Amino acid sequence: MNVSPSYIKLHNSGELTKRIEKLYKILESCQLCPRKCKVNRLNGELGFCRSGKDLIISSFYQHFGEEKELVGQYGSGAVFLTNCNLGCAYCQNYEVSHLGEGEKSSKEDLVRQMIHLKTLGCHNINFVTPTHFIPQIVEAVDLAAKEGLDLPLVFNCGGYENAEVIKMLEGIFDIYMPDIKYADAVNAKKYSNAEDYFQRLKESVKEMHRQVGDLEIKDGIAVKGLLIRHLVLPNDIAGSKKILEFIAKEISKDSYVNIMDQYRPCYKAVNFAEINRYPLAEEFNKVIEIARESGLHRGF
Ligand code: SF4
Repeated sequence: MNVSPSYIKLHNSGELTKRIEKLYKILESCQLCPRKCKVNRLNGELGFCRSGKDLIISSFYQHFGEEKELVGQYGSGAVFLTNCNLGCAYCQNYEVSHLGEGEKSSKEDLVRQMIHLKTLGCHNINFVTPTHFIPQIVEAVDLAAKEGLDLPLVFNCGGYENAEVIKMLEGIFDIYMPDIKYADAVNAKKYSNAEDYFQRLKESVKEMHRQVGDLEIKDGIAVKGLLIRHLVLPNDIAGSKKILEFIAKEISKDSYVNIMDQYRPCYKAVNFAEINRYPLAEEFNKVIEIARESGLHRGF
């Protein structure tokens, strides 16, 4: 496969170094995500995501559980970042995202991990929950490019992004993979403590799509584009119809949308009767039907 990710060009021209400086500057009064905590993370102050200056990584491995277009034959090179800028009550990964499981890591550690994943044959480097560590990740990518990293980079996020920051990532990430969790502000507040979730999500997903377009697949492997995930929640807490119509009307009918049925009650879901169960098959099938009716046709 002949892949030439655009961050290589930015690395060679020195543009990545300039972006890293600008991204680190944001940490002085952090507005990396829509929470805009305005804490000085470079001085050790912590905001909602409880993350300071140092990277915290929980694990990295050849991941065979992602979409088949990311996994291919040799797996997706997943790097799981610790902590999160969302506060989902039902988080399926809460030990890492909310309880802080992971180790402080240097940029050199992350470079070694990426190069190791490349050596194993992974088809991409897949940063899971990267939002609150964007400057540190981009800095490590710049160093890794020098060491020969040339795999597509995946920005695998919860969708609660600051579109102005996403603009600064143009040409760095090849594949954006946002979850679209809610259309409804009351539910976004109740279950993820992010009332403005859908508004911020719409702005940032439009920007992601402007940069990379619809998902491009070569020889069965995703090389560039937008890959959207949507987790079906019980009792239509997500507001799936509104989400799918947004994708079809305001992004593209050719969007790749992985509609997922694997919700299970985790973490604090027990405190909310309406999400304290698995989604029913009929609820999931209804969402698939809505997607088809909206004109979407890829990824589900
Ligand atoms: S990245 Fe963290 S500290 Fe920065 S604005 Fe978001 S939640 Fe707050």
